[in-house]
Amino acid sequence: MRILLVEDEPAVAAFLLRGLGEQGYAVDLAADGLLGLHRAQSAPYDCLILDQLLPGLSGLEVCRQVRARDPGVPILMLTALGETDDKIRGLDAGADDYLVKPFAFEELLARLRALVRRRAEAPAPAAPLRLADLTLDPAAKRVERAGQAVQLTAREFSLLEYLLRNQGRVVSRADLLEYVWGLDFDTGSNVIDVYINFLRKKVDKGFEPRLIHTLVGMGYVLKIEN
Ligand code: CA
Repeated sequence: MRILLVEDEPAVAAFLLRGLGEQGYAVDLAADGLLGLHRAQSAPYDCLILDQLLPGLSGLEVCRQVRARDPGVPILMLTALGETDDKIRGLDAGADDYLVKPFAFEELLARLRALVRRRAEAPAPAAPLRLADLTLDPAAKRVERAGQAVQLTAREFSLLEYLLRNQGRVVSRADLLEYVWGLDFDTGSNVIDVYINFLRKKVDKGFEPRLIHTLVGMGYVLKIEN
C-alpha cells in the first residue's frame, strides 16, 4: 500500500506520516501542489491524500489533473474550510471522499480502507445497464442519456451503477453508504445528498422522463416517472 500525501502544514504532515507509517502504509510526502502533481504523475499510488489549500497549485487543481489521467486512483481530500461549497468543489474535481480538519486519525484510516477496498473489489465488467434512454456501460465506464455522453466522476458512476442495478427498488442511505462508499456506519455527513444532486444535474436535468426520485425519510429510487 503506497500513499501519496500532499500536505503543506508540517505538523499535520508529521502526524499523518507517523500514524500511517505505524499502520504499515508506505507514504510519500509532497509539501506543495506542484510537487504533489509531479509525484502523482511519475509513480503509481494506491491512494492520494490531498490537502485542499496548498501553495503552488491548489489541491483541487491537483485533483483535476490527476483524475484526468487516472480515473481509478482513490483520492481523499482534506479541507480545513468546512464549508459545503468547498466540499462540493472537491468532490466535483474528482475526489472520492473528503475529511474536514480537524479529524480523528481513526476516521481517516476508516475512509482510506473503504476507498482502497472498493477499488480492489471492483466487480468484473458486465453487460450495459439501461433504463429508458439512460445507458451505463460498466466495462467501457461510459454513460449516455438520449444518445449524449454524460461525464461522471468515479463516485458518481458507482452511485448511478448501484441505482441502476436496483432500479425500481427503494435504496436507503445506509445501502448507499455501504455499497457505494464502503462505510458500514453513517458519518452523519450530507455526502449522499450532494452526490444525488450531482447526478440529477448530469443525468436528469433537461431530459424527460425524470429518473432519480427521492422518497423523504426512506431513500432514493431510479424509475420512469414523469
Ligand atoms: Ca494547507
